[in-house]
Amino acid sequence: LTADTPMSRYWSAVVHGLTPYVPGEQPKLDNLVKLNTNEHPYGPSPRALEAIRAATGEALRLYPDPNAEALKAALARRHGLQPQQIFVGNGSDEVLAHAFMALLKHERPLWFPDITYSFYPVYCGLYGVAHRAVPLAEDFSIRTGDYLPQGDTRAGAIIFPNPNAPTGRALALAEVERIIAANPEAVVLVDEAYVDFGGESAIALVDKYPNLLVVHTFSKSRSLAGLRVGFAAGHTGLIEALERVKNSFNSYPLDRLAIAGAVASVEDEEHFRESCRKVVSARETLVAQLGGLGFEVLPSAANFIFARHPARDGAELAAELRKRAIIVRHFKAPRIDQFLRITVGTDAQCAILVDALEEILRD
Ligand code: PMP
Repeated sequence: LTADTPMSRYWSAVVHGLTPYVPGEQPKLDNLVKLNTNEHPYGPSPRALEAIRAATGEALRLYPDPNAEALKAALARRHGLQPQQIFVGNGSDEVLAHAFMALLKHERPLWFPDITYSFYPVYCGLYGVAHRAVPLAEDFSIRTGDYLPQGDTRAGAIIFPNPNAPTGRALALAEVERIIAANPEAVVLVDEAYVDFGGESAIALVDKYPNLLVVHTFSKSRSLAGLRVGFAAGHTGLIEALERVKNSFNSYPLDRLAIAGAVASVEDEEHFRESCRKVVSARETLVAQLGGLGFEVLPSAANFIFARHPARDGAELAAELRKRAIIVRHFKAPRIDQFLRITVGTDAQCAILVDALEEILRD
């Protein structure tokens, strides 16, 4: 790779520039209070666990259903759509990757917020998608007006999380709809990884706008990050494009255990609602407690909060917490390097966090 060949040029231009996922975010230590990757603290539906156990039999000898029909049918029923309007993948990261390959590359750049999910620019590099980062407002909200075409300046495609990550701020559905309606020629991908903790889902608009794709994950509100399941809902034309790319890549997106567990999770609406409600209630308590310690906390509609202390350095606070075996996320990025992103854990984990911060701030 040192000679000047097309391969070595690709290596230095693209691959060398990639940053591997920070291994430090998944440390293998006992007794950690792990509040850094937005996992759900209460665990999946017992019915999902039972379905996964039941699927671990001799049938594992056989390939899974390449169309994951049972899951598409369950999701279609849950969201009032047709199964052909659903695409499933190995975690929403894989669904997003397929969307970047199949739908988001145009002559005009892909637009997304300048503070957002860190994988978007990574996928742009990997798949050669030109992009434009649109600054957030002063209060870290997405400004709808910035995504409307102005004369000849318009997006080739648009992607944003709602609620946004890592800020947690949500955009009202009417504002999301303004963006979709004003850009009929651009695919608008709304990444709703955190929507079940207080946002308004754009899945309700899928039948109305053929340019809308909504992506969900089972990793957060369904507490199944370890199973790796995500899906997209959209017009059949968009879904077909995703299926074509997928079939050229890996015809079996989900294994038998993932399909079984995901179907049972979707069918256990009561567990889903109750476990999300518990996280939202713990979030409100945590926001009030951190406010009491002098933190400024952005309004959150997610299962994490984004907070800064006016008198303390963000990196130092994260390091002090880490010394006490509490890990939260800190980003060394402009505008947000004073913030901590803290996953809402169990009541006990939140109490340990608040006590530790109180102690650190006293020093
Ligand atoms: N989108 C956003 C905004 C996220 O924060 C995450 C999780 N880090 C994902 C997508 C991917 O989640 P998963 O691959 O676990 O479904």
